[in-house]
Amino acid sequence: MAETSETLLLLAPLRGVLLPLAAVPDPVFAKGLFGEGVAIDPLGDTLVAPCDGVVLHLAATGHALTLQAPCGAQVLLHVGIDTVSLRGDGFAPCVAQGTPVRQGDPLIRFDVDRVARQARSLVTVMAVANGNAFAVAARSDAGLAETGRTVVLQVRVAGAVGVAQAATPAPPADVANVTHAAATRRRTVTLACAGGLHARPAARARGAMQGLDATVTLHYGGREASLASLVALLALSADEGATVELAASGRDADAALDAVARELQRTDAGEAHAVFPVGAAPAAPGGDLPRGCIAGVAAASGIAIGPLHWWRDTAPEPDQAGQGVAAERAALRAALAAVDAQLAHDSAAAEARRARAEAGIFAMHRALLEDPALRHAADALIDAGNSAGFAWSEATRAEAATLSALADRRAADRAADVLDLGKRVLRALAGSHGAVHATAGVPLADDAQPVVLAADEFTPSDLTGLDRNRVAALVMVRGGPTAHAAIIARQLGIPCLVALGGALEQWPEGTPVIADGDNARLYADPDADLLAAAASTVALRARQRQADLRAAHTAACTRDGVHIEVAANIGSVDDARDAVAQGADAVGLLRTELLFLHGAAAPTVADHTARCQAVADALDGRSAIVRTLDIGADKDAAWLRLPAEDNPALGLRGVRLAQACPQLLDHQLRGLLAVRAQAPLRILLPMVSEVGELLHWRTRIRALAAEAGADAGIEVGVMIEVPAAALLAEQLAEHADFFSIGTNDLTQYTLAMDRCQPALAARMDALHPAVLRLIAATTEGAARHGRWVGVCGALAGDALAVPVLLGLGVTELSVDAALVPATKARVRTLSHADCRQRAPELLRLASAAAVREACRRYWPA
Ligand code: PEP
Ligand code: MG
Repeated sequence: MAETSETLLLLAPLRGVLLPLAAVPDPVFAKGLFGEGVAIDPLGDTLVAPCDGVVLHLAATGHALTLQAPCGAQVLLHVGIDTVSLRGDGFAPCVAQGTPVRQGDPLIRFDVDRVARQARSLVTVMAVANGNAFAVAARSDAGLAETGRTVVLQVRVAGAVGVAQAATPAPPADVANVTHAAATRRRTVTLACAGGLHARPAARARGAMQGLDATVTLHYGGREASLASLVALLALSADEGATVELAASGRDADAALDAVARELQRTDAGEAHAVFPVGAAPAAPGGDLPRGCIAGVAAASGIAIGPLHWWRDTAPEPDQAGQGVAAERAALRAALAAVDAQLAHDSAAAEARRARAEAGIFAMHRALLEDPALRHAADALIDAGNSAGFAWSEATRAEAATLSALADRRAADRAADVLDLGKRVLRALAGSHGAVHATAGVPLADDAQPVVLAADEFTPSDLTGLDRNRVAALVMVRGGPTAHAAIIARQLGIPCLVALGGALEQWPEGTPVIADGDNARLYADPDADLLAAAASTVALRARQRQADLRAAHTAACTRDGVHIEVAANIGSVDDARDAVAQGADAVGLLRTELLFLHGAAAPTVADHTARCQAVADALDGRSAIVRTLDIGADKDAAWLRLPAEDNPALGLRGVRLAQACPQLLDHQLRGLLAVRAQAPLRILLPMVSEVGELLHWRTRIRALAAEAGADAGIEVGVMIEVPAAALLAEQLAEHADFFSIGTNDLTQYTLAMDRCQPALAARMDALHPAVLRLIAATTEGAARHGRWVGVCGALAGDALAVPVLLGLGVTELSVDAALVPATKARVRTLSHADCRQRAPELLRLASAAAVREACRRYWPA
């Protein structure tokens, strides 16, 4: 008999090592939100009853149950951490809900290996769920526990508050006694937590009400449960995606509804960062790395696990001697035609997948293939007695060498493209006319694990037709984040690491690796903990993406009710459709130059109207901020011959270019003013650094609007991307309707680091305190004239940065369409007042790394 008149003794339900709850790798259990208790790191595979009782609740997934002792104490037993995500895999319950049990009876058997491989931890928790009535008087939380023999918890029964009530037969868990006050507030909430209302979200929801004067009940499926009773909540069996109703009464009813709703709408994936990388901070330049880990530059985010597979580039070495001029010329013509057809096919396939950047690269390769200089050079070598292969190889090498020698970085990029074309044609000449796809070098068995594909540096043709089901990530010894291969990886949505250096070359084929595109690290031979953590993070992220998307079509408000507009950055009509599908509230940045980069001639007024009208129509009533052409620096328009500049990023770009060629902007403004949209279109001027530029273009816009009989009151905003503009925000705000901060350029100009320079990519962090100070200067200047400030640079989509931006007074975030759901979800987790209070202290920190560290502490993402 495990019960005395005063104390309920709970015996070890499992053999294993005892731990205090604080050591449980899960904040809900560790903070005691589920109740007082102990944890056991199991050495056995059967959970038994720690006392006599009745099974009050058994999780549908078989990983947890609650036992009610005859005295009324409710004992929660939860096997492993995050095991709800296994959806029953590896668990075999031996009892059903309502089964009476004796101490020592088996409750749940579990497959230790199976669960350990998939779950974050096997640590098992035993806690008293109704601890307000049954306090834990003593516990053993160290040493070895033997099943059914070691007393691990002593629970006070006699004299406990509410014993009489708790000792009465357990009420049906779904009808906890609930009273309604006259002024009951109600709210409907969709459960985002994976696995539904299981132990941890239920405990978090209850914990969120602490200190609030309110009573909350949750209604689902015609039943109701008080938030005060965890068991009643669990017994509702409300699954992920279920819509539940909350009813609250009491003085703090509204705050309680907010707090509980927030917890129920949260996915568990927010805890992923605590899991992976295990105990590691992101790579810092010069920082120490664990053994078997190398740092590179993240070109596409995400985490992937798989064996390393080397992509060996096997372009054939042609014989030098030709077999007659006519035959060699004919062979070259045939090979060029075959490659052209192949590129046309690849480009069309990329278009069909809506991989527009990839399609553009292949279209550009077709243009290079027709380059008369290249063809003449090859023909001349054939005429001198060389083979077609040798002639083509020499001609492309010479052309690439010339381009590489130019100071212009874009010319160097073209050199890589010419070399890539060289390889394609050589393969065609050698008879391998089919596309040489990366997948050809990747294990083809359907059940083969996807690989982490490694190369010195991928070229676009290496990646043609890359099968994302077989390739989990791309990693490169060299390369930069702006390389075309990196663009393709981002389009495919797979993680990509570049500039990993020579250390990667030492890693043999088949090495198990984890590619962490979030923290720019590659791990070889990860241990079981790291592997399990990465696997659980990958699974959690996928679930979180789904949950975020479900909630993305409603407005995002912070916990304390401040609405933040989450908009999308777009560059095409297709992007506009994506933005709508992903739940964007508006378009925060239409990069109009992207609509016209590949055209053959400068866009006419009619072209501008047509493209912009198509975007506005696709937005289905959403407003859009249309940035005027920002050509120059790294954005080269085929139809515009720009003067050669030593420092194009510091030269003629944005409105500066418009001042040099006023017709360029006049045409665009006339075109824009002719668009008829359902919702406001606003104009945004890029690269403004002086008030005079704004005044000039505002006047011009007014004049053109009057001329066209259009709305002269169209709003005009300024892009804040030059430090001078941030520092003069107050003066600019007098004449601007709004600001949009371009943190990509603002960071490059503040830190004096070229945003296209791979060697500096790891240090180009927009959370640098100097950049934050300029953002603060912008919002302060704007506030003096009552203007609003948005951010459209990449920082707006950085989860760690969102609270900082809100705290500095930003009210609109414009991000890539794919990031809209996660950004809205992030906003909903934050308290605006808390962000406002903490942000100023970040400005006083010394480095971007220190800011990131503080953000992780204050607002874990
Ligand atoms: C920026 O500079 O942050 C920005 C959004 O503009 P772009 O990236 O087009 O230069
Ligand atoms: Mg910019």
